[in-house]
Amino acid sequence: MADVKAIQTVSEMHRVADQIRADGLQIGLVPTMGFLHEGHLSLIRRARRCVDRVVVSVFVNPIQFGPQEDLEAYPRDFERDRVLIGDSGGDLIYAPDAEEMYPEGYASYVDVDGLTRHLCGTSRPGHFRGVTTVVTKLFAAVKPHVAIFGQKDAQQAAVIRRMVQDLNLDVEVLVSPTIREADGLAKSSRNKYLSPEERQEASVLYQALQKAKRLVADGERRSEVVIGEMRELIERRPLAQIDYIEAVDTAHLQPVEEFSGEILLALAVQFGKARLIDNLVVQTA
Ligand code: AMP
Repeated sequence: MADVKAIQTVSEMHRVADQIRADGLQIGLVPTMGFLHEGHLSLIRRARRCVDRVVVSVFVNPIQFGPQEDLEAYPRDFERDRVLIGDSGGDLIYAPDAEEMYPEGYASYVDVDGLTRHLCGTSRPGHFRGVTTVVTKLFAAVKPHVAIFGQKDAQQAAVIRRMVQDLNLDVEVLVSPTIREADGLAKSSRNKYLSPEERQEASVLYQALQKAKRLVADGERRSEVVIGEMRELIERRPLAQIDYIEAVDTAHLQPVEEFSGEILLALAVQFGKARLIDNLVVQTA
C-alpha cells in the first residue's frame, strides 16, 4: 500500500480540508500523540466506518506536559505510525511540528472550568488547558465533522465534549471503549516505560476497578469503602505509587460520597517512570 500522505502545515491542511468539504465529503479526525497501539487503531477503524475521509493527527503536544513530565522521553516512531494508520483505514496524517503549532509570540489558550478541577486536573496543573488548546487548534486546521476520542482518557473526553458544547464548535464528538491487554491493562503508549516487573504489577489497576465493580454490584454504596478497598489492593504491589483514586459523578466530575446513578471511578498510579491512568463507569440503581 502507498504511504499515507502526511501534511505538516496549517495552510496545506486548510487547503486539503476545504477541498474534501467542497467535494461534499465528511471528515473524521482522530487526534493522537503517535506511537500508536490497538487503542488508537480502534478509533481510526471507527472513524473509517463513520466518515468519508479519516485524518489522524500525530503531534506530541508540548503544552500539555508539565515541567517535570516526560515530554522529551515520550516515545515516537513516525514511520511505524504511518504504516499502522494506512493499514487501519486512515487517509491522511496531520503532523505539524511544535513551531508550526506554537510559533514565536503564541498567546492564546482555551480553558474549561469545573470538570478539570479533580482527577488528573489536580496532579497535572495546566494539562487540560494544553489539551483543550491543541484540540481546538486541530479542529480549526482539519475542519472535521466528527472527532473520535478514547474512554481510556475519560476526563479528557468529558472536558472536550463540554468545550465543544460551550464554544458551539460544529464537531460531533464520539467516544470509543478502552482497549486492553489480555490481563486487563489498558493499552497506552506509556506502557513502553514499564520494566518487566512493573508491567506485571500494572494489571492491578484493572483488578482494582473490577473489585470496585463487584463491591458496588453487591450493594456497597459508600465511596470511602470502595476506594479504600481499591487502595488496599494496589498498595500490596511494592512498585505501585498511587497518585489518586476517585469516584466522581459523570456529569460534572465532582467527587461523590455515595454511589448513585452513573459514577466514574478513575485512578492514576505511578510505576517507575510510567504514570498510568484507567477508569470504569459504574451504574447504580
Ligand atoms: P494519546 O496518543 O495517548 O494522546 O491518545 C490519543 C487518543 O487515543 C485519545 O483519544 C485516547 O483516549 C485514545 N486512547 C489511548 N489509549 C486508548 C485505549 N487503550 N483504548 C481506547 N482509546 C485509547
